[in-house]
Amino acid sequence: MYYSHLSQLKTMLKEPQIQQLNDYFAGLIGGATENITVSKISEALNWEPSLASKVLAGCKRLGIVSETYGIRCPECSTLIQRIETLDQLPQSSFECYACGEEITITTQDIEVLFSLINPMVFLSGQQENEILKTPVAQENSLDGFLKLNGINEYFFCPTEDEYEELDKMYTRIFVTQKTKKDTGDTLEKLVIYMFGLCRAFRTNGIKTTTNQIDCYVRNSLFIPYGVFNTIGRRFVIECKNENKVPKGDYMSKLHSIIHLMGSDYGTIKFGIIVSKVRGPSTFRALANKVFLKEKLIIISINGKEIKNLIDCRGNLLEMIERKIDEVTMDATTDLVEAGLYNT
Ligand SMILES: [Zn+2]
Repeated sequence: MYYSHLSQLKTMLKEPQIQQLNDYFAGLIGGATENITVSKISEALNWEPSLASKVLAGCKRLGIVSETYGIRCPECSTLIQRIETLDQLPQSSFECYACGEEITITTQDIEVLFSLINPMVFLSGQQENEILKTPVAQENSLDGFLKLNGINEYFFCPTEDEYEELDKMYTRIFVTQKTKKDTGDTLEKLVIYMFGLCRAFRTNGIKTTTNQIDCYVRNSLFIPYGVFNTIGRRFVIECKNENKVPKGDYMSKLHSIIHLMGSDYGTIKFGIIVSKVRGPSTFRALANKVFLKEKLIIISINGKEIKNLIDCRGNLLEMIERKIDEVTMDATTDLVEAGLYNT
């Protein structure tokens, strides 16, 4: 009889495969329970890496395994460090303690390692003593994992509790506060919380000598593709609390903040305006002009869209990606209706 949670994988696995996976997990003891990779499952069970990758992502959602990351030196393949979350990644180049080379870590040097959360539910079996000094196999790398599982889904996957918390914040700001009873919740807090749910982002409001920035987002992981490639290492969000359609200067404050920050914070090429109500109808055409002239992308998200995202359990990164497309192409076609995006 297999560990009952595994049966929930039957949308992707057949009964004998579930049994196979159960037997594999049951056969691991000691270090082996903490160093499960896509290629180990793929080799042991003779499955395609793409299936092994999806199954491990599924096991993680079900709370059967947790995910950590091993950083391997791109020069000598030594496992240098094991980190729990991606924001612990080294942010600049450093010297490898094993080979002495100056190295910079990319997503190809990060090995995705899964650990059985409760190995005792499986029977004891085979011990593994050491992690071999081998380069990161493509299917085990974070890079490979993202390509197989979808980058937006990987980085933005709030739990049901987190979506509910967002919904409560939304209600307190957009519904309850109309009675003028201040609950201390603000649009700024909601934005900081919502963007903070994205795994690679660290968010907070900050003050500079000249400005108050409602939400400053640091992207701790540079991934050279997808939405991350466009938004870069850091970006800023401005919140607009007005309850009526903002006027023509909708974009000017954020635009000037980004210009002023440019020299102090490195190049910022992306910004978001979050407004309670929909921005002016001229916004997209204006944003497109700014993009063509300065390669700076500014998108706008309104309260109704946030509500819709929460209700549909939508993906924030997918929404950002769609809005970037709309601004850069100056699209007049609705990209959701055109079937290109879900959110
Ligand atoms: Zn090294």
